[in-house]
Amino acid sequence: MSFEVNRIRKDFPLLDTQVAGKPLVYLDNAATTQKPAAVLDALDAYYRSYNANIHRGIHYLAEKATAAFEETRKAVRDFLHAGSTEEIIFTYGTTDGINLVANTYGRKFLQAGDEILISALEHHSNIVPWQLLCEEKGCVLKVIPIDDRGDLILEEFDRLLSEKTKLVSVVHVSNALGTINPVEYIIGKAHAAGAKVLIDGAQACSHIPVNVQELDADFYVLSAHKLFGPTGTGILYGKKELLLAMPPFRGGGEMIKEVTFEKTTYADLPYKFEAGTPNIADVIAFKAALDYLGTLDKEGLARHEHELLEYATAQLETIEGLRIIGKARKKISVVSFAIENIHPQDIGIILDQQGIAVRTGHHCTQPLMQCLGVPGTVRASFAPYNTREEIDALVAGLHKVKKFLS
Ligand code: PLP
Repeated sequence: MSFEVNRIRKDFPLLDTQVAGKPLVYLDNAATTQKPAAVLDALDAYYRSYNANIHRGIHYLAEKATAAFEETRKAVRDFLHAGSTEEIIFTYGTTDGINLVANTYGRKFLQAGDEILISALEHHSNIVPWQLLCEEKGCVLKVIPIDDRGDLILEEFDRLLSEKTKLVSVVHVSNALGTINPVEYIIGKAHAAGAKVLIDGAQACSHIPVNVQELDADFYVLSAHKLFGPTGTGILYGKKELLLAMPPFRGGGEMIKEVTFEKTTYADLPYKFEAGTPNIADVIAFKAALDYLGTLDKEGLARHEHELLEYATAQLETIEGLRIIGKARKKISVVSFAIENIHPQDIGIILDQQGIAVRTGHHCTQPLMQCLGVPGTVRASFAPYNTREEIDALVAGLHKVKKFLS
């Protein structure tokens, strides 16, 4: 099966949109991906034909909704190659998953003086929860630095890792630079030092296959909306023995076995971590996104995205004064750049007037921007439905930016 981008584009209704009288060129996929019609249909079908609360009712609608909800859990288990559905916890997204681990595993098992290792590439959501934990518990946050290309300096990681390190929490793929981190190496070394590892997979899952058992990740988090699914739902994968040892995060309905005024006993996995009515419709529609992804030719997709990355890099480099920021040895299809003497935000505004959507600013990675010595970047991030012609439009748009602002 060859990779047919034009056919794929037809599956995403929003791509037909016009912006400022021009065809939309959507290059902000690292912020969120567009949704295929199958996902929109799944949302619609739930609300139109079997809207009900789950796990509680015994009537037809409740059973149908519960079954569909649990089908997504199985689909995620298969997608991540997890050992069991007990290890798949529904969250509100990556941020929520990291906060869950910090507030449960972190609060229970980390002590004053213990060290948590993150990297310079982290999104704020993989920094701030650990800072909050460090403030509360007296732990110490240490940071693996990057080199000029945007690759982690692994010798520094080796040096920072010690018997004091209790947790390593690193991003699989950088949202700002596209760097693919060598997480197998990091996990192996961290485990040898006795530390647990959380991998932030928000950007990785839509670009590279993930097998949590092969990786031997202790925790792996992701957001459905970066994977062609709806907003407001995501996944925490955790190894069963760790999830069993962790206290619940939120208390309420659904996560209990028995409640008395004196004492509550908690539900079995995975429900112990799923208090309250979850985001039922979006979880159900997430399966439609995973099913959709499953229909795409994986090798063709990887080749297509790699070609987009190479083409965009080469074309952007022809623009005088443009500097690509982040040239890691292994990258997904994300290109960050700056243009001499022009603020990233101004570039974004003028591109928007041409129907081109990119992300500008710090990309929720302010400490990374400080390391790179830039206020922010312009980021073009590609998905399976993007084309070379859209990259040409971006390059033409940037020439206009220069003409207006230089
Ligand atoms: N981690 C990375 C690498 C991200 O790119 C993002 C979102 O951009 C997040 C975490 C946070 O994801 P969410 O806002 O869906 O919780």
